[in-house]
Amino acid sequence: MRRSSPTPRPAAGGRAPRPRAGQPEQLGFDGMPERLFVCTPSKLGAYADCPRRYRYAYVDRPAPPKGPPWAHNSLGTSVHTALKNWYALPADRRRPEALAGLLKGTWVGDGYRDDEQERAAFRQALGWLESYVDTLEPGVEPLGVERVVAVKTSVLAFNGRADRIDARTGEAGPELAIVDYKTGRSGLDADDARGSQALALYAYAAQRVFRRPCHRVELHHLPTGTVAGHDHTPESLARQVARAEDTARDIMAAERAVADGSDPDEAFPTTPSQRCGWCDYRRSCPAGSQVAGREPWAAMENTLTAPPARPAPE
Ligand code: SF4
Repeated sequence: MRRSSPTPRPAAGGRAPRPRAGQPEQLGFDGMPERLFVCTPSKLGAYADCPRRYRYAYVDRPAPPKGPPWAHNSLGTSVHTALKNWYALPADRRRPEALAGLLKGTWVGDGYRDDEQERAAFRQALGWLESYVDTLEPGVEPLGVERVVAVKTSVLAFNGRADRIDARTGEAGPELAIVDYKTGRSGLDADDARGSQALALYAYAAQRVFRRPCHRVELHHLPTGTVAGHDHTPESLARQVARAEDTARDIMAAERAVADGSDPDEAFPTTPSQRCGWCDYRRSCPAGSQVAGREPWAAMENTLTAPPARPAPE
């Protein structure tokens, strides 16, 4: 999640925009195959987290106003872009001294409490990057950086942008690994990598796109310099794809129900949780407006006191 948001405003007239009734994403006709559900990991994740949030983000038009940009998203975007641009440099110019310029060149300053916090975040991010590139093997080129991969199943037309796709040599020969950078405060473990539907879908798509096995998925947590990895089996990848297809079917059913006249609030129910305080649509949501919102820089107050980065394990 690395996107900035416009300044929040109440919905016009205090009413949430209505879904695009009669325009579900998928329409089937008797005797004709259903159209595929076009999706990204974010889209599937939004519905799995909260159907109402999905509706606000992807169905209602005009969409309800989002809250202000989050500083932690700005930080994540800045770090991801710096790493992307690191790999765009010729290999002989990938030196730690280049990082400050790369980070500064595409720094996103939205959401911070003040200049002091933003400067501290910049220093923190630079420290993460310096430690991280120190662990990278010189001369090893990824197969893809911020690479879009896409695949179709009988239900889904999936596409997503992987942070990095590495070409490696496994016991059985050439294979791929999906690498996802993380900049949040919490450390991550193998269960996070194993349970990530996004990583599994990237792996599934990458092996189709590049016609090479791709079972390895890794979360590279820059604040701690740790790598949480998991080796999928064909069966576990298939399970994740099946779960994504189930979610897609649920979404299509909800959209059809609205198109057929059902109450959109019932078709896309709220699922209040701790996440509501961080939800971009909290002010437009009847459940979310009952909970206290977080300041846009709230996550930074923990991030900036996190322990210093240390090198990733071999
Ligand atoms: S505020 Fe909570 S219940 Fe409302 S859309 Fe956001 S996550 Fe869902």
